[in-house]
Amino acid sequence: MIQFNNVSKTYPNGTIGLRNINLTIEEGELVVIVGSSGAGKSTLLRSINRLHDITDGEIQVDGKSITRANDRELRRMRRDIGMIFQSFNLIKRNTVLNNVLSGRVAYHSTLRTMFGMFPREDIELSLHALERVNIREKAYIRADQLSGGQQQRVSIARALAQEAKIILADEPVASLDPLTTRQVMDDLQRINQDMKITTIINLHFIDLAREYATRIIGLRAGEVVFDGPPEEATDEV
Ligand code: ADP
Ligand code: ADP
Repeated sequence: MIQFNNVSKTYPNGTIGLRNINLTIEEGELVVIVGSSGAGKSTLLRSINRLHDITDGEIQVDGKSITRANDRELRRMRRDIGMIFQSFNLIKRNTVLNNVLSGRVAYHSTLRTMFGMFPREDIELSLHALERVNIREKAYIRADQLSGGQQQRVSIARALAQEAKIILADEPVASLDPLTTRQVMDDLQRINQDMKITTIINLHFIDLAREYATRIIGLRAGEVVFDGPPEEATDEV
């Protein structure tokens, strides 16, 4: 599903983000990437949907090179990839439903979505996505009225409405309390299992990784220092 071939990323200021990464992630895996701050987790995740360009090597998604994709191909490929951030990235003043509907923009013309003219099916799909993360009843509330955990579930629903085949979650629980953290991780795990969505999650904490991952990848200074099943991951990975 996702393949890294000799991928390196050096930032314009010379900082090394990733060093010669080779990885294959199969469809349906729930991969957790662990590593301390600065290890390269974000850099790796952002490389997959080309939020930034890598400086060496190639990344393939679903058998196609995203590294070499032209603008049109890139837009098409990004449709399959849902992104979840630590800070939720919702439009605060919009309703929950409108935020989820924004996952549909890649399927329509800019003009249509600019005026919020989404077809009926999109609204149904979005409400159904909200149901999957148990916040259907919040659909018509402003996004900034929700708790952090609820907002993160809205961003998961947005990825579902997008009909993403891959979910990339960059520290999705870093700003949440322990209880909410579990709810959000449970949602991500359930969606991964029920819908076979390939899921990659960056986390700070190895304990949480061990509990949810089907595979753990440890990064340190831009290199893979561990890649294996959760039961083999020690505290040092
Ligand atoms: P993590 O997500 O594991 O905390 P990052 O991928 O954010 O790690 O960072 C990896 C390395 O790249 C760090 O040394 C970080 O300071 C550096 N880095 C990240 N973003 C940039 C940037 N935009 N410009 C320069 N260096 C960066
Ligand atoms: P996180 O810890 O959530 O990965 P950071 O605080 O490391 O985020 O980075 C926040 C922003 O600053 C990101 O856009 C990242 O690319 C950028 N950044 C991180 N490290 C550096 C750096 N050394 N030089 C320039 N920009 C950086």
